[in-house]
Amino acid sequence: MGVVLEIPAGADRGPRRLEAGTAEELVRGPGLHGELLGPEGGLLGCLACGHRELYTQRVFPRALGIAVVAVAAVLAPFTWYLSLVGAALLDALLYLVAPTQTACYVCGARHRGFRPRPRHPRFDLTIAERLRYGERAVMGSPMRPGGTADAPEPEH
Ligand SMILES: [Zn+2]
Repeated sequence: MGVVLEIPAGADRGPRRLEAGTAEELVRGPGLHGELLGPEGGLLGCLACGHRELYTQRVFPRALGIAVVAVAAVLAPFTWYLSLVGAALLDALLYLVAPTQTACYVCGARHRGFRPRPRHPRFDLTIAERLRYGERAVMGSPMRPGGTADAPEPEH
């Protein structure tokens, strides 16, 4: 199990996918913010653009989730609709076992396989709003010192 960094297409280049056996190996690559790799192998900020606000999300195989429901719907008339209950349970289970990734609010880069120390909370719309609209943000919240590293989960 190595680490993966997926960087979306930018203004000057296409999307990139970097992979390495360890986080230390990965950040040796050119143009990466290796100084933001924490002492415990976690992320202090985005390795691609250097921004210090990240969020954690599950990598849910959406196509698989939809396929499960589609098969259950076809089987429903033959199973007294119990297949739909089974599909809901299976989807919930898939979600729980799905791996997580840490994504950057600014450039959208996704980091996988890094240690969750420090931990970054789930997506917070008030951070996204502030970064997108700045002063004009309706519900923007100021950036914490050090970004989202070990920040509490958003309340909404
Ligand atoms: Zn970034």
